[in-house]
Amino acid sequence: MTTSKALVPAGPVVDCLSKSCPDCGLVMTFPRQRGPYAVGEGFTVCCDPCAARRIQTAERRDRIAALTQRFQALLGRGLVTEELRSAAFHASNSAVEARNPEAWAMARRWRATRNLYVHGPTGVGKSYLARCCLNRVFQQGQAVAEVSARRFAKISDTFAEGGGLFSTWIRTEVLLLDDIDKANWSVDRVGALWELLDARASARRWSIVTGNVSPRELLDVLRERSVGHGLRNNAMADATLERLRPCVTLCLEGESLRSLVTDSPE
Ligand SMILES: [Zn+2]
Repeated sequence: MTTSKALVPAGPVVDCLSKSCPDCGLVMTFPRQRGPYAVGEGFTVCCDPCAARRIQTAERRDRIAALTQRFQALLGRGLVTEELRSAAFHASNSAVEARNPEAWAMARRWRATRNLYVHGPTGVGKSYLARCCLNRVFQQGQAVAEVSARRFAKISDTFAEGGGLFSTWIRTEVLLLDDIDKANWSVDRVGALWELLDARASARRWSIVTGNVSPRELLDVLRERSVGHGLRNNAMADATLERLRPCVTLCLEGESLRSLVTDSPE
């Protein structure tokens, strides 16, 4: 008489179901469910790492959709330009950056904890650099707006006190004021600029300013234009510039890069 020993302890036979992860093909085995849970057999099952990746992708997609929606809302209200959408540090032109590597490095380090003043000749990429900074804070969730100084000055002639665009420019967390020296400043318009910068500074909201002139030269421009009733009001111009402190100043140098940017292959 021979005795045989079972190699595997006897137990209930488990009916298994195999499924492969649709993303990486990993085969996973599950105990087959009975009754109402059997309906799960038809479901697609991802492995844990692939499921985590899918969730990440979905979150990224939702984040981009939310950003796009916020951007469209600002665009619809005339608070930003189309140019802001494509201005981003990760997509900036390396030939443009190579002309002013230090200024670009400083711009990358700039955080909305102080103002930013970017100056230099026409066509060296001031507005693009400024928009890269503005776009970054926008993507981080802050309220932003941009306006050319020319448009600001024109609109400032007619705005009802405290209303409309002017109050939005005051309230927005980060404001880009582009081409500060290109506006046709007058004593009243400098007064409006002071009002804007004073209200923003009081609330510790930061501004990005671009111009062809240095802050010192801008002061002279504003002083020259602050003439009312035959009197020059230097104090108004001085107070306006004072409201831009504390400020990081970046100077971009070199020839106009517009032809370079246009000619470079994508
Ligand atoms: Zn997988």
